[in-house]
Amino acid sequence: MHSMPCPDRNPATDPSPHPEHAPIGSNLTHPTWCHPRHCTAERGGPHRGPSVLIDPDSIGSAQLQLQLWSPADDPDGPVVLLELAAADRDSGRRVRVDLSMRQLDQLIGLLTTVTNQAGES
Ligand SMILES: [Zn+2]
Repeated sequence: MHSMPCPDRNPATDPSPHPEHAPIGSNLTHPTWCHPRHCTAERGGPHRGPSVLIDPDSIGSAQLQLQLWSPADDPDGPVVLLELAAADRDSGRRVRVDLSMRQLDQLIGLLTTVTNQAGES
């Protein structure tokens, strides 16, 4: 845009047309849900949202950790995944699974149905 010579231009006072002092990585755009403290996209890792915990209660033993994440350099466009982490009930081994947004929609629908049925009984 500024590549054409401009006769009125004063090189001593006019700002440089080249953004030489722009910080590295400043052209990186983050999803709205991305959290700066968890995001590793500046280092080539995934975008990550805040981590949310669902604590166990007197009946349910599960402690669930949920976190949105997205590969920063996916060539096929933005993919958003929900990472669900929990300890296996029997072995205690930590299990992590990724849910696509389609799976998440199905899960929300199922949970809503089950919750409504349990409330009606
Ligand atoms: Zn990010």
